[in-house]
Amino acid sequence: MADLGRLVFDADLQPLRGAKIAVIGYGNQGRAQALILREAGLDVVVGNLRDSYWEKASREGFEVLSVEEASRKADLISILIPDEVAPEVFEASVMPEIRGRSVVINFASGYNIAFGLIRPPEKADVIMVAPRMVGEAILDLHRRGLGYPVLLGVAQNASGRAWDYAKALAKGIGALGRPGGVGVLSSFEEEALIDLLTENTLAPMILAAIEAFFDIVTQRYGVSPEAAILELYASGELGELGRAMAERGLFEQLKLQSRTSQYAQLTRIPVFRRILTPLIEREAERIYRGEFAREWGLERLSGFPVFTRSWAILESSRLAREEDRLYKILGRRSKRS
Ligand code: NDP
Repeated sequence: MADLGRLVFDADLQPLRGAKIAVIGYGNQGRAQALILREAGLDVVVGNLRDSYWEKASREGFEVLSVEEASRKADLISILIPDEVAPEVFEASVMPEIRGRSVVINFASGYNIAFGLIRPPEKADVIMVAPRMVGEAILDLHRRGLGYPVLLGVAQNASGRAWDYAKALAKGIGALGRPGGVGVLSSFEEEALIDLLTENTLAPMILAAIEAFFDIVTQRYGVSPEAAILELYASGELGELGRAMAERGLFEQLKLQSRTSQYAQLTRIPVFRRILTPLIEREAERIYRGEFAREWGLERLSGFPVFTRSWAILESSRLAREEDRLYKILGRRSKRS
């Protein structure tokens, strides 16, 4: 059992020297990680379906193989395709190639292992290097000589060296060993819980609060949609706040704001906390029990009916229409779309 929560800042690349690394998928994470691994002098091959991503990886100088062939040749297989398609691809194209042999399998999220949707063979080491960063930002930080945070986990340690592989991979993809780089010893279950809890509570709560705020001020108090949208998010102030939270700390950033704003926030935090705590508890319990994973799996199997309907409702909302009008005037969106 790992020392959960322990931080690591650097690692030795040695465990990966001489190993063939198959990056499966050349999307958001796949492309960024493959490019940085290659730059670190490691032996990388890309596994993908034969389509535009294949062409792109090939244009960028990688040997590109089918998922089966890349898996067959690899000592470490990094599964960097969307979580919802990974179980099928793993079962059909990776599993037959790795049965009975020692191999390291890496995931960039805890989801499929935590909820038992992928069951790798016993002889495999199963590791997780989960960046807290989108692919483009990883590349951008790397160009600037910086690292970034990752959660590390081990679900199977057949070789006894799984943690060494996880840390080495985190170094190889540019997370560790550079300013700003840090790895948190974690687990697949922990990563899945906090990732999904953010997506099930914090993120939709922010969007719901923005929608409610917009409807109330424009419909009841006659505020113009332009003023409301700029106040709420179009000015970019929200992004600046996020940056200040990351750099200064959640509460220290408050000191950058006016005393009126500080007073309002300090006195309202406990009110919203009381309302939000039971809602967050309920969602955490649903995620922990695997109910969200089951719900999302069923949604996918039935052809995304709720997903499609929810998008349609959102896109026809007053806020979406007013935003479209404003963003076209501001030149942030094409007038024809
Ligand atoms: P992407 O959606 O960017 O992955 C696209 C890649 O997956 C393409 O190469 C695509 O190839 C391939 N792919 C898609 N569907 C299939 C399929 N049915 N069969 C085979 N290949 C397929 O994924 P991300 O990079 O966003 O996510 C990869 C992993 O990284 C996930 O585990 C995610 O949770 C994790 N992660 C993602 C982050 C992010 O910012 N996006 C941040 C941290 C972790 P093609 O279309 O050619 O089939």
